[in-house]
Amino acid sequence: MRKGPGGSRRARAAGSGPGPGPVAVPVPLPGPGLCPRSRRCPRPLLPLLALAAAAAALLYVAWPGGERGTGPPPPGPPPEQALRALLGQLDPTRLRDTFLRPLLRERVPGGPGSRAARQHIMGCLGALGAAWHLELDAFEAVTPRGPVTFTNVVATVAPAAPRRLVLACHYDTKILPPGPGKQLFLGATDSAVPCAILLELAAALDRPLRRAKDRGAELTLQLLFLDGEEAFGDWSVTDSLYGARHLAARMAATPHGPHGTQITTMSLLVLLDLLGARHPAIHSHFPRTHHWFLRLVAIEQRLRQLGLLHVLPQDQPFFRLSPAPGPVEDDHVPFLQRGVPVLHLIPTPFPRVWHTLEDTEDNLHPPTMEALCKILVAFVAEFLQF
Ligand SMILES: [Zn+2]
Repeated sequence: MRKGPGGSRRARAAGSGPGPGPVAVPVPLPGPGLCPRSRRCPRPLLPLLALAAAAAALLYVAWPGGERGTGPPPPGPPPEQALRALLGQLDPTRLRDTFLRPLLRERVPGGPGSRAARQHIMGCLGALGAAWHLELDAFEAVTPRGPVTFTNVVATVAPAAPRRLVLACHYDTKILPPGPGKQLFLGATDSAVPCAILLELAAALDRPLRRAKDRGAELTLQLLFLDGEEAFGDWSVTDSLYGARHLAARMAATPHGPHGTQITTMSLLVLLDLLGARHPAIHSHFPRTHHWFLRLVAIEQRLRQLGLLHVLPQDQPFFRLSPAPGPVEDDHVPFLQRGVPVLHLIPTPFPRVWHTLEDTEDNLHPPTMEALCKILVAFVAEFLQF
């Protein structure tokens, strides 16, 4: 992903420069408040966004069904004992050693690291009891470096279920020149940690996922591990989001159920990116999904009150009610353009190490990663009504 021209210190550090200002040719993006091309909204939009967010907050009720008919509201958040049992299924050692570490290598599309990462992801999910349906979406696209083969991994617990909660991240790494010691860009926050978090959630929820599948639940879980998020040269509409653009188009053309497509099965797409560093500030980006964002706020608050997050009392919450500094172009865009409700879980500002060779395991903050897993596992369990 990239923040807009004229953007942050980190955008300049990544070599995109202070930029010439917003680009003249807009991308047609129907999402409310999403600025074309520029990732920073023009100032006049910000008060409007804040107003819209406030209106959405006022309209919020305990668990509205959502615009795609997410069904009757669940019985509510689980009681404390059930919540503790759920969180007990998370394993920080497994997250780090089993799921994350094998991903910490260069994962350039079409290269050996990319293939190894894909095999790792599929091996982890294939070993679980929920019998995930695993599918590869491989295709070739022209890039500034010539034709490249990209491969998305699509994992679904119950592919025939009429509705899906979709969690997504990208697994490719940006091409950066090696450092003086020949060190490579490992993209720990970008996006090895989000991939590892998705695997950890799948492992922690394995039993309830299997039970829901066995009883033919209407709503299932789908994980997208997208390839080719990063630009090969300067970020543009054609040089970025290769995997997401291809998969969203393919899903929109694939019928599902009597009247829908794979795209219309998506009750909500939750995109994780740039997570794993300390003190993330994650904002709500879309009024349409603000009610879901408020569930994350409430879950974080509850876990903090129960003393279940290893954070200091003075630490600010991860999920912030203040308006987002601006939208960020990322893998959600091709799905948003096709009407999918989106939650974009990305810290703004970006981590200090963004698009530098310092984006390594040493600069991750394990208690933050564990806390995010706890919040997200509770969110997914509530959404899927476990
Ligand atoms: Zn990146």
